[in-house]
Amino acid sequence: MNEKHLIQKYFSRKLDDESIIEGIGDDAAIVSTNSDCELVITTDTMSEGNHFSKQAPAFAVGYKLMASNLSDAAAMGATPRWATLNITLDKLNESWLEQFSNGLHECAEAHNVMLIGGDTTKGSCLNASIQLIAEVPIGKAMLRSGAHGGDKIYVTGVIGNAFNALEFLQENDFNHRKLSDTQFSALYMPESRIDLALELREIANAAIDISDGLLHELELMCSASHTGAILYVDDIPINDDIDFSKAIIGGEDYELLFSAPAEFAEEINNLSKKHNCLISCIGEMTNNTIIELYHGSKVIPYPKYTGYDHFAP
Ligand code: ADP
Ligand code: MG
Repeated sequence: MNEKHLIQKYFSRKLDDESIIEGIGDDAAIVSTNSDCELVITTDTMSEGNHFSKQAPAFAVGYKLMASNLSDAAAMGATPRWATLNITLDKLNESWLEQFSNGLHECAEAHNVMLIGGDTTKGSCLNASIQLIAEVPIGKAMLRSGAHGGDKIYVTGVIGNAFNALEFLQENDFNHRKLSDTQFSALYMPESRIDLALELREIANAAIDISDGLLHELELMCSASHTGAILYVDDIPINDDIDFSKAIIGGEDYELLFSAPAEFAEEINNLSKKHNCLISCIGEMTNNTIIELYHGSKVIPYPKYTGYDHFAP
């Protein structure tokens, strides 16, 4: 099998969408964009040994790579449209490629995302990146920097499920067969928050996804918005099997953290029901620049941690 056949067999699918002028096959893809929208562009990489283990099922790797990019689009309140895939393979393993591309396409198709191009190379380690291009009506994107003092802080889903699964794998020699279905889904097939996000963009002042840990992402939002925050830790829905501080520090949950004026509480409650997605109010933004954690009416110590850093010594 040569490179051209590989691309044809595993990555090129029929693209039935009027936005696509040229898909896979020419030197570059051509798409036509909506004139009333801005483009929102994000990219995420997964490399073996860093983001996934050798034992991880290829389907799961492909699915999660797409899902992590979708989560960034959701955090911006954008509709994902087109993707490109850059993949570096250390060897030609067709069953791996087949499963990987099935996972990637399954996630893409479920969200109407079209794979329109990429690059395929050989290298010393297995590495894959997706670039996702999304659209948002002009001026409507949710930014990290838009929060105001007095906003309520919300989070979607239950926190710590993915980290719990990751920890379980670490304790079990990465034997993926031991994962429960719930753990597997939490770690590799996170539910998309896109549909919810497209409605949230009308009411939220700021949003971020919490893939690097809830507390760390809140810090980023506060710093971008020049706000502080009060977190009511008892109101954060966390996985019971995991220690509280691990849940709010450990990442991998592709959930949304957002802030919105208090007057939208009921609308947010309705969106939660409509999208069948738990949304919890976990605190509020303040006008200073400190983050305080409250357990009941008592301030509790701020957990000591350093966010994940690929280049930490
Ligand atoms: P070039 O040499 O002009 O860069 P390539 O041989 O790299 O062309 O790619 C041929 C076509 O296949 C292009 O349309 C490119 O976007 C697409 N392509 C290459 N690798 C991938 C991939 N992994 N996934 C999707 N499309 C790909
Ligand atoms: Mg190329």
